[in-house]
Amino acid sequence: MDLSPDEYARHAHRLSDWIATYLRDVDQYDVLPSVKPGAIRAQLPKSPPAAAESLDDILADLDRVILPGATHWNHPGFLAYFANTASVPGILGEMVTAALNLNAMLWRTSPVATELEQVTTDWLRQLFGMGDGWFGMITDTASISTMYALAAARERDPALGIRQRGMAGRGDLPRLRIYCSEHAHSSVDKAAMTLGLGLENVVHVASDGDFRLNPDMLARAIQADRALGYRPMAVVATAGTTSMTSVDPINDIATICQRESLWLHVDGAYGGSAMAVPEMRALFAGLDRADSLVVNPHKWLFTPMDCSVLFTRQPKVLRRAFSLVPEYLVTPEGDDALNYMDYGLQLGRRFRALKLWMVIRAFGADGIAERIRHHCALARTFADWVRAAGNGWSVAAPVPFSTVCFRHVPEGETDEAEIASHNAAIMARVNASGDVFISHTKLGDQYVLRVAIGNLRTTAQTLERAWTLLRAAAS
Ligand SMILES: *Cc1c(COP(=O)(O)O)cnc(C)c1O
Repeated sequence: MDLSPDEYARHAHRLSDWIATYLRDVDQYDVLPSVKPGAIRAQLPKSPPAAAESLDDILADLDRVILPGATHWNHPGFLAYFANTASVPGILGEMVTAALNLNAMLWRTSPVATELEQVTTDWLRQLFGMGDGWFGMITDTASISTMYALAAARERDPALGIRQRGMAGRGDLPRLRIYCSEHAHSSVDKAAMTLGLGLENVVHVASDGDFRLNPDMLARAIQADRALGYRPMAVVATAGTTSMTSVDPINDIATICQRESLWLHVDGAYGGSAMAVPEMRALFAGLDRADSLVVNPHKWLFTPMDCSVLFTRQPKVLRRAFSLVPEYLVTPEGDDALNYMDYGLQLGRRFRALKLWMVIRAFGADGIAERIRHHCALARTFADWVRAAGNGWSVAAPVPFSTVCFRHVPEGETDEAEIASHNAAIMARVNASGDVFISHTKLGDQYVLRVAIGNLRTTAQTLERAWTLLRAAAS
């Protein structure tokens, strides 16, 4: 038997207080834990307990083992990668998702899980100012969403017969080609590996001076491939690249895709959330001409890990790529009901729509826009400080969203390797403070530092602290 509901209530009250204290005091922890690899495992028994342990003992280990080994993503000073937030409505949603344990594989296996997913993804579409005609589905990550989109792109021409006959051992199949910018996320390459397209069939097209895919180079790459007898299949445009958050010119790319009959997938895993801000939608012009789009609410829409939304205007093609119904999953609703299992690889699916629905309701469209606007304003302020500082400091890329790439070059230094190790040392010193956590990337051959604002607790004071630490570390 399970533990009793009374026992649940007793521990849940305590745990609820523990979470509230954690959220209140999260800035008291070092963002990055000071543990060496293996140290956490060494503290834990090598084998599972033979006898039952009390929840009191287990929960005591949250303070003893779990928190000291955590990198605190909910810390205001978390400025690395893409900072995110497990917001209060999102945390509450996760609790209920675990308790209900619904499975959103078929409509029948929980009507509300399926229909709330339809409603919530359509709310998100409207929140983003997108047109009608988009089908939305929640997955775990952008990597999976993009892989699904490219699986659909591969299925678009059924004459290739890949669903039935596969790709291996076939002399009749041309090389299928995918195009993206040199700054596209590695998930595009991984999808090509997974789908049997092959890494060398991902064409990384050169970008312009602002790190955006160059449409003329794209058109030329497609032409060159056709001349070789290859089959161009899809283009992935990125709206908010992972390194420097540049936005590819979606409308120009859509024109090429239309002319060439290519699937256009837009990767807005991080940047897409900015469409919640009406005055930022111009960056995404042409989006309604795309075939698919991914946005991650678990990045910049205050929803706890994991929650990615895949939109497509071609749900029938996506369904053709994935639908396979064994007898034991046939249900009497037929075409009256949507069965999400038909649109992806997974059968069992978590009830992720609940937390997203709660986040959207608890903040409202205006509240979400205001929060994202504020993050962008904080980033511009930080960039202004860097620009105004002189003394070897510079901003290394435009700042369209809430992420700033910048670096420090010691006076007279021109050797890129020296500049890189100097900036790596700055980053190490800043991160050792425990107050903030920043990361780095490379823009071409330039090593740069990155500050990404995406946590709801981050304030101007957090950034002032980061800036003070950075300047001290550089001198
Ligand atoms: C973070 C990111 C991804 C990968 O997201 P996951 O959900 O972790 O798979 C893909 N594309 C872009 C542009 C990203 O920034």
